[in-house]
Amino acid sequence: MPIGDFIALIVVWLIGTIVGLAILHWLVSNAIHSSELARDIREIKELLKRQYAAGPDGTGGEPSGDEGEADGTGGDAEACPGCGARVRPTDEVCPSCGLTLIAQDDGEKE
Ligand SMILES: [Zn+2]
Repeated sequence: MPIGDFIALIVVWLIGTIVGLAILHWLVSNAIHSSELARDIREIKELLKRQYAAGPDGTGGEPSGDEGEADGTGGDAEACPGCGARVRPTDEVCPSCGLTLIAQDDGEKE
């Protein structure tokens, strides 16, 4: 075997080993990185789930606004502070409970 072929073989083997190690290193680091990312995402999901479960106590959505605000009376309907019935801003008293509604622009509520 000529010495030139032997050196060429060693060089090719070295280059192959280096490239192989680089690919292996890239694969391993990529796998570690993606698994860390997946673990982070899982932790964030668990945290969000726990936070969401601890936040609302199951009230079941919005407490107001179920009557529908645009059924012909215009968009100025307000809720009576006494009984919660819908009243118009022009109403002096609540038609449902009789509460006086005039002193609203005063700013002072009791
Ligand atoms: Zn009322």
